[in-house]
Amino acid sequence: MKPEFKEAIPVLEKLEEHGFHAFFVGGSVRDSLLNRTIDDVDIASNATPEQVQKIFDKTIPIGIEHGTIMIRYNHISYEVTTFRTESDYTDFRHPESVEFVKDIHEDLSRRDFTMNAIAMNKDGTLIDPYEGQMHINEKRIETVRNADERFQEDPLRMMRALRFVSQLGFHLGKEAEDAIVRNHHLLEKIAVERIAAEMEKLWKAPYILKALTILYETGIWQSLPVFKQHHTLIQKSLNHIPSPLYSLAEAIACMHLFYPNVSIDDWCKRWKLSKAIKHRSYDLINGYQLYRVQGLTPETLYRLKPELFEEFVHLVTVLTGNSQLTVKEVERAYQQLPIKNRNDLNINGHEIIRLYPDRNPGPWVREWLDQIEKQVINGELQNEKQTIMEWVEQWNRRERN
Ligand code: ATP
Ligand code: MG
Repeated sequence: MKPEFKEAIPVLEKLEEHGFHAFFVGGSVRDSLLNRTIDDVDIASNATPEQVQKIFDKTIPIGIEHGTIMIRYNHISYEVTTFRTESDYTDFRHPESVEFVKDIHEDLSRRDFTMNAIAMNKDGTLIDPYEGQMHINEKRIETVRNADERFQEDPLRMMRALRFVSQLGFHLGKEAEDAIVRNHHLLEKIAVERIAAEMEKLWKAPYILKALTILYETGIWQSLPVFKQHHTLIQKSLNHIPSPLYSLAEAIACMHLFYPNVSIDDWCKRWKLSKAIKHRSYDLINGYQLYRVQGLTPETLYRLKPELFEEFVHLVTVLTGNSQLTVKEVERAYQQLPIKNRNDLNINGHEIIRLYPDRNPGPWVREWLDQIEKQVINGELQNEKQTIMEWVEQWNRRERN
């Protein structure tokens, strides 16, 4: 048993001492069977959220309506979810009603894929009613029970299947794959934010090419924003994205750069992405374009800013195939910059205005500062007040003549 589970055994024991059943479930059990690193250890129990709150000192009600309580035990957080079924996904967004049930088997039957429907007790014994272990060994994604019904209940499961392909390198079982071909149109009914969250995981995972191939072959792309309006885009992605992307911002920047017909604004609007991601994508693209024209010049580095270096280097590698450029090299070059931002400049707008009392303050002040900044970044002007003022004086004289 992995140490993450061993540490959590007292949590199961505590629930059992109070007369409840409790099991490890979901992604952590799957990942341990695959010998992958475990993220969060999730627990399922027949204790209701109120009962869980009474048993543990530190609890946070993160999803009481779905039966989920977060507990802290030995400085580690665990989600404890009450055994439940889900019924009537009438609005395709959230289950209409969550019904608590008595038995772990019933709880496992509402889960999406057989590999995610395995429970483990504190002795390490597995409860695996849907042959999840066998499918894991065969690297196969199969739905729990009938695939059409499961995807119709919650169409997001189709995107989850694809992102598991990308993360785990599994293939889709025939039944699941055929059901996706028949049902992907239902994705249009669910909140785009939920699809975007799965797409982000898909873009960032190691088997991205395999996942994009299935996205193409099953026709899911026809039900995804932007892809459905631009029929050649999915094939272009297959040709242009050879490896996992670093972030959602990089993914959007990358898609725009090899398919300029869709702007960053369009991507962000249709996928309902945040302003922060939009700005990051723009900054990356601007940095990339400067780099393509000028190379790793002081100006490129100055505009880029350190928090974008990793994504930037990755983007350059993906789009140009140039794997020579390293983050270290970019960081070293950045350290050489005479100034890192405009505040570092040894002159400001007020000082320039004071130099020319007869001129009305206006856009010229900003233009001059831009010029000074550029000269200083490029090492053509020392960042020293007196020197800058002399340069300004000369420039002023030249402009007047
Ligand atoms: P990850 O490693 O990305 O967290 P995970 O399998 O733990 O993967 P979660 O989204 O954390 O995925 O969900 C935890 C568990 O809840 C899943 O393993 C699965 O059993 C169940 N589950 C999650 N989403 C759904 C869904 N849409 N339909 C049915 N079961 C789901
Ligand atoms: Mg999880």
